[in-house]
Amino acid sequence: MDKVGRHISSSGSIDKTVDTARSISCNSMQIFASSPMQWHVRSLDDEEVRKFREKKRELRVDPIVVHMPYLPNLASPNKEIYEKSIAAMKANMERCDQLDARYLVTHLGSTMGEPRNDALRRISSAINSVINGFGGMLLLEGQAGQKNSVGSQVEDLAELYDHISHRHVGYCIDTCHAFAAGYDISKEEVLDRMDAVLGWKNVHVIHANDSKFGLGSGKDRHENIGKGYIGRDGIRAFLNYKDISSKPILLETVTDRKNPDSSEIELVRSLIS
Ligand SMILES: [Zn+2]
Repeated sequence: MDKVGRHISSSGSIDKTVDTARSISCNSMQIFASSPMQWHVRSLDDEEVRKFREKKRELRVDPIVVHMPYLPNLASPNKEIYEKSIAAMKANMERCDQLDARYLVTHLGSTMGEPRNDALRRISSAINSVINGFGGMLLLEGQAGQKNSVGSQVEDLAELYDHISHRHVGYCIDTCHAFAAGYDISKEEVLDRMDAVLGWKNVHVIHANDSKFGLGSGKDRHENIGKGYIGRDGIRAFLNYKDISSKPILLETVTDRKNPDSSEIELVRSLIS
């Protein structure tokens, strides 16, 4: 059975995200465990956690993916930011385990103009310092190629993967980011090339987003499915490559936050043959 869902924004008790997901026919979803624009990772109360886990089971929204907030920078050359970023990752891993979320997706941060190799080393040692004991799987997300960002090239992702001393690590591929980074994900030969470096078997979550800008633009601007430069046929070709459609496919496109609807979820399902 397909696992199609979207990022669900939460306000108030976190268990409400499961209701929202189910109401728009998602059987998987992504959430933030705390406010994405704050350093503080709020604690969850026991009742909230109990309700979340119960609803997840009853409404069969599974797997749950937690996305790291935006402020942490695991590549930061600034010691204070670096330490805070590690602490934020550890707190998010704890939230994942509390919520029985299977995956934690993280961006790899920015070199801030410092050498790439030092940035990669900081990221892997940050992850290595907190990953032991984490019950879920950490997924390194490919980036769009914005200035100084780490992880837009599959070789960077693979190098980090090799330096993480834990088998509970994998990748999240975002169709918009990959396209913006120069990978035409509608083409089989491009996906084969990514396979040779990453192994699609190690890609556990797909972020399905169309792109507001063209191939190789380096811009991380999501567009609704079929309305951007990848296009409906491009997304369809991607979703039907090898076993991609067996992975959780999560939208991060614009929707009415208060009143999300299921049409884009159904559109994605209809593209899978
Ligand atoms: Zn992301």
